[in-house]
Amino acid sequence: MKIKIVRFDIHKQPQQKEFEYEVSHSRLSDALHEIKTKQDNSLTFRQGCGSGVCGSCAVRVNGVERLACKTHINEHDLVEPLNYARVIRDLVVDLSQQEKFLNQAKAYLHEYHATLIGKKDEQAIDVQSNCILCQSCLSSCPVYEVNEDFLGPYVLTRVLRYVNDKKEKNSAEKLASIQSNGIWDCTLCGNCTMVCPQFIDPKTDILNLRTKSYQNGYTDPSLSMNNGFDTSFGNGDFGFNPNGF
Ligand code: SF4
Ligand code: SF4
Repeated sequence: MKIKIVRFDIHKQPQQKEFEYEVSHSRLSDALHEIKTKQDNSLTFRQGCGSGVCGSCAVRVNGVERLACKTHINEHDLVEPLNYARVIRDLVVDLSQQEKFLNQAKAYLHEYHATLIGKKDEQAIDVQSNCILCQSCLSSCPVYEVNEDFLGPYVLTRVLRYVNDKKEKNSAEKLASIQSNGIWDCTLCGNCTMVCPQFIDPKTDILNLRTKSYQNGYTDPSLSMNNGFDTSFGNGDFGFNPNGF
């Protein structure tokens, strides 16, 4: 079976080029190893656990984000690095760029509150705790494509995880940090949910954060712009004046 790989080398011209390889393994991570050990040892890719736990082998296959260790390939498939991250070499991208957003949104346990944790409390943060930081969701996000300051799906999912964590004393600070370039900028397209290998649903998590924000006095900034209507119409109240004055 032949597959194509988009490779990147800053020291060559052109820096990005498509190569075709003959492989016998159908699992992508095995096929990449086969190429490296038998055909071209300069092929560079990242791999850790090999069993879908560490999240380090995320790439795109035919334009869709996948973990190489959990993906079976077909003839003529195209393998590329993740979107919107600096490519270091071939399929390896710089995942550290997102650290500033994790810090900005305080997507971690910040102010510890000693308390008893029950089964229900564990369940409230269980799904989001399964994030393996593969950044597949970010690579699929159309908002991040046009706004590099957007916090992005997995950072927001992690914010919800810590907002719901009974051990966090200062969830108000986290909600405050996601109002700008955060929850209101998401278009709810659902791409992030579709590609998550852990079956996490960042789109719904963002909707939950919007609800929590409303409950804490925040509003969608796009609604406060009146959508261009002149609110001085009629008796000065917005909308139709049935009395005609
Ligand atoms: S649902 Fe929102 S966060 Fe997820 S990919 Fe779409 S725009 Fe990005
Ligand atoms: S939310 Fe899913 S796709 Fe996004 S980083 Fe976490 S595990 Fe990966």
